[in-house]
Amino acid sequence: MDIPADFPACNFMKFYSTNDTKLRVPLAEAVFRSLPADGGLYMPDRIPTIDPFVFRNITDYSFQELAFIVADALLGEDIPKADLKEIVEETLGFDAPVRFLTPNTAVLELFHGPSFAFKDFGARFMSRVMAYLSKDEKQQLDVLVATSGDTGGAVALGFLGVQGTRVTILYPKGKVSKIQEQQLTGNGENIRALEIDGTFDDCQAMVKRAFNDADLNGSLCLTSANSINIARLIPQTFYYVWAYAQLRSQGADRVVFTVPSGNFGNIGAGLLAYRMGLPAMQFVAATNANDTVPRYLNTGEYRPQTSRQTLSNAMDVGDPSNWIRILDLFNHNLDDLRAMLTSYTFDDEQTRMGILELYNQYGYVACPHTAIGYLAAERYRSEQPGDYASLFLSTAHPCKFPEAIPADIYKSVTFPKAASSLSSERKAVVSLPVDFEQFKSYLLNSAD
Ligand SMILES: *Cc1c(COP(=O)(O)O)cnc(C)c1O
Repeated sequence: MDIPADFPACNFMKFYSTNDTKLRVPLAEAVFRSLPADGGLYMPDRIPTIDPFVFRNITDYSFQELAFIVADALLGEDIPKADLKEIVEETLGFDAPVRFLTPNTAVLELFHGPSFAFKDFGARFMSRVMAYLSKDEKQQLDVLVATSGDTGGAVALGFLGVQGTRVTILYPKGKVSKIQEQQLTGNGENIRALEIDGTFDDCQAMVKRAFNDADLNGSLCLTSANSINIARLIPQTFYYVWAYAQLRSQGADRVVFTVPSGNFGNIGAGLLAYRMGLPAMQFVAATNANDTVPRYLNTGEYRPQTSRQTLSNAMDVGDPSNWIRILDLFNHNLDDLRAMLTSYTFDDEQTRMGILELYNQYGYVACPHTAIGYLAAERYRSEQPGDYASLFLSTAHPCKFPEAIPADIYKSVTFPKAASSLSSERKAVVSLPVDFEQFKSYLLNSAD
């Protein structure tokens, strides 16, 4: 048999752009570029399936074992098993437990990581994949990230102490919460925070300009920790499989997953897990007043809107950047998508009611994003009664949202140990105006 000259290369997972399905780039390029030049998003060029044996015997596996099986299916050709195992184990240094509120309603808590939000899974995994892929580089990797609060904390804590990387976070001065600011500025080591006297959009514009600046790219090795990075999406599939394992061990096998959604990365990962074989019955995307997706599923017309401010501000997205990935997973077939995905929208008044109801009925304190997940799970059950388990995802710890939770409920929040030990000392913060030249000279002249 003739073996083509490029045979070994065929074995690596390649990534295409949702705007150009003929494009094929290797993992390292997809990870370090974050975004293809054509403005699409990277997707794996084939969706591997998990051996059905694993799902039949799922209660025999631990979280780490299941995560490794999924990671290996997607990245096993690019990262040797031993290294991938280490990356997965370091990423999952904390659990994602399922808690039952009733015999058929449960919550998957994704806030046991260092920044108390699910973004920790993506940020930690990405930091270690980046470190692995650049391990033979002599030059340090400079990671730039603009944040309105939550992403920056997860990225800072995800990259803290990771060899060969230095992170610079830009956030709008005075516009992040106290806990968020402590997570951004209290780290030192390889994490530096810049408070910019402007808005989040100003921060983002400065970061974007840096990537196009010849001088900066000439002397630094810049990369972004953008939320649409494929290395952040992949680890989010792990906890869907782990949640299913936990439900199965309690006797449930039909599961409806409800996901509080903003940029639709989290639910996109769930749908990827489904395409890889996770036996999910249905997904429900829960949104706040930013209802572009529920309107789309109703009308078939995608009409993005400028984002509206709500109580659940991490979901204030009018044009969800990961939506294109979901369409891609369903080959742009609206009927197939509707068969698997339902979406509901809730306003701030309903969100408050959701927080109250969870507390009054179950003694459960939820952040506003999680409350919207609960409301959507309940709505789905009222429309589709039946014998199945409703699982809604809790995306953040309630301690992060004192303004959005009534004071008499907030006072019964149990603070995670790490939150009470957060230092208010600002170890590593520099103030800058909205001025690209000053930002540039900061990057070029500051020694590590
Ligand atoms: C980011 C975030 C969301 C939205 O997740 P997407 O992946 O953007 O849909 C929901 N809740 C919290 C707390 C978040 O930080």
